[in-house]
Amino acid sequence: MSISLSHLTKRYASVAVVDDVTVEIPEGSLTAILGPSGSGKSTLLKMIAGLEMPDEGRVVIEGDDVTDVDPRFRDIGFCFQHYAPFRHMNVAKNIGFGLRVRKQPKAVIAAKVSELVELVKLDNKALSYPSQLSGGERQRMALARALAIEPRVLLLDEPFGALDAIVRTELRHWVKELHRQIKVTTILVTHDQDEAMEVADQLLIMHSGTIEQAGNPSELYDAPATDFVHGFLGPTTVFKGVVVRPHDLEIVSPSSGVMEGVVTSIMELGFEVQVTLTLSDGSMPWVQMSRNEFRSLGVAPGAPIAVRERVAL
Ligand code: ADP
Ligand code: MG
Repeated sequence: MSISLSHLTKRYASVAVVDDVTVEIPEGSLTAILGPSGSGKSTLLKMIAGLEMPDEGRVVIEGDDVTDVDPRFRDIGFCFQHYAPFRHMNVAKNIGFGLRVRKQPKAVIAAKVSELVELVKLDNKALSYPSQLSGGERQRMALARALAIEPRVLLLDEPFGALDAIVRTELRHWVKELHRQIKVTTILVTHDQDEAMEVADQLLIMHSGTIEQAGNPSELYDAPATDFVHGFLGPTTVFKGVVVRPHDLEIVSPSSGVMEGVVTSIMELGFEVQVTLTLSDGSMPWVQMSRNEFRSLGVAPGAPIAVRERVAL
């Protein structure tokens, strides 16, 4: 279901932490709200969920103005980072909780739970207790619990924030696949650019309570509207006084017509190599390249080089 936010504003002690946000979230999309800590992401999500009341503006879900509707009646599934499972209930009971609260018949609940444990790949853990699950499994259970009520909208606030890097990456792929299967309109809040770029089909970049730019990941990466978006989405460096991507620079042999300098330092990060230079104008841009490219370049700290912008292919 599409979500329209118009002029949404929330103030704490007269400071607008969400400031006049107007945005359209397309039906069936997986939209990431990406921004630094404190930019207002969670507050925005809570207003959509009905857990915070806006000071101004409206929340409309599929044409229904739900701004004054109690959260229980908004048909929204949530999953937050510090999700607390019911410890005394097994996985199946945790997942079925929302349906029991809604007084669904036992047979309906049993059918839905068995469908969901399969969907989140916990079918062999249905009778386990939360303390017997790994962090990643617990978050999958939380997602299944959010999905059990067949929500119109799924809201995920940093759902993988507390997990280690490998599990996070796995869960990201899994959420993308899950979304492809069930197509429920989903908003994922994160401060992690890689997570947002990888998972979402639409990004909203949030900064100081406002949406700085909206678009698909490659649009934002290639055509950032502001310096903030440029710097926040992917690496930047300064060359000839202009902010550029370090992989848009290339190191060549010294020759006339290009800026010359020396290699200052080299950092090898597995596949990627970052080479920092000191140029004749005193500037110190860095250049990002693959390990193969670095090896064929054959430079060491102190080596004289020249640098130019790569020719776009
Ligand atoms: P994010 O999720 O992007 O990290 P939040 O929406 O949690 O940001 O917070 C945005 C700003 O609002 C922060 O400066 C935070 O301290 C403030 N804030 C959030 N909730 C409250 C509250 N209940 N009372 C006062 N200030 C709050
Ligand atoms: Mg937050």
